[in-house]
Amino acid sequence: MEDYLVDLLAQRQQTSLYRLRQIHDSPQTPFLTIDGQQYLSFCSNDYLGLANHPKIKADLQAAIETYGVGSGASHLVNGHTTAHHTLEEALAQFTQRESALVFSTGYMANLGVLTGLLGRQDAIFLDKLNHASLIDAALLSRAKLYRYPHNDMQALEQLLAKSKAVHKMIVTDGVFSMDGNVANLPVICELAAHYQAWVMVDDAHGLGVIGETGGGSLEMYKLTEKDVPILIGTLGKAFGVFGAFVAGSRLLIDALIQTARTYIYTTALPPALAVALQTSLLLAKQEPWRRKHLNELIHYFRTEAKKRNIVLTDSITPIQPIILGSSEKALQVSRALHNQNIWVTAIRPPTVPVDSARLRITFSASHQYQHINELLAKLENEF
Ligand SMILES: *Cc1c(COP(=O)(O)O)cnc(C)c1O
Repeated sequence: MEDYLVDLLAQRQQTSLYRLRQIHDSPQTPFLTIDGQQYLSFCSNDYLGLANHPKIKADLQAAIETYGVGSGASHLVNGHTTAHHTLEEALAQFTQRESALVFSTGYMANLGVLTGLLGRQDAIFLDKLNHASLIDAALLSRAKLYRYPHNDMQALEQLLAKSKAVHKMIVTDGVFSMDGNVANLPVICELAAHYQAWVMVDDAHGLGVIGETGGGSLEMYKLTEKDVPILIGTLGKAFGVFGAFVAGSRLLIDALIQTARTYIYTTALPPALAVALQTSLLLAKQEPWRRKHLNELIHYFRTEAKKRNIVLTDSITPIQPIILGSSEKALQVSRALHNQNIWVTAIRPPTVPVDSARLRITFSASHQYQHINELLAKLENEF
């Protein structure tokens, strides 16, 4: 086995695909301290700046006094507390749906829903750029898998028209995690209605961030539960804590409680986290200045980058990638920025398609204009 592992790692090194974990000791703020050095950071998914919020921290600490640390068991044994249940009601209300079910992670929510609802006689239609957890979930469900080119609605329609599967489900990211663009949900929902397919949207990067009140990509397009019966959200990104959920009809949630193996056969989230998450949902609603400030920063960055001939993609979200092509190039620019105390990660295949390695710049409501100016000045040195 040793030879095999040495070869595997050598190959990763040679192709600039070797991954290294950077150790740090800071909470999520615009700054990271690594090896005693302070960096201005632009790579977290803490879009609303809630991950280090004093009220959420205080509520988490108090909840530990009430509930202790661990939940002790799975939800169907004795791990389901009032804290979990109230959080589910708050999530249902936030998404304007009848019901919601909390999972430990978004990865598990996606596995649970697709394996719990579909089987060999069914078909899943996925955008090529969907998140890895959706692809893994689809594979594990044993349904027939069709992947259409990114946002190619004609290709999707052709696949739907040909399919004779018993149940068809179109599955897409709401906001694509490495590109920041929004899926063409109105057309997806039209096609779904026409070809009698179900729609599931994973809005991990949209909820809390886009839409008039932070309702995500569905709110942005004014789509309802009728258009998108299955909505996935994560709670470790814009909501700043940890966890994930599925929102939909009472019937859907009841069915998932029976069939979603990543819900049934796993320890429930620590109840104190469920308490902290209720605070975080409230703050996301009660502090709309976070979304407003974030949008202003995005607009400012895009306008100023254009003046400096820095080429961006077509993204209105806090995800603003700069596509560089080769993994070597992406690593080189990312290192050059690190040397100037800016932290932006290079994203390489297989996370993104070959020859589209990139800097994935993300913004948070905790950034200030002066931070953006610093980033722009240092980016300008590199291009
Ligand atoms: C981050 C992400 C997930 C996984 O969520 P976790 O809670 O981090 O496991 C799922 N889907 C998408 C689109 C994501 O970006």
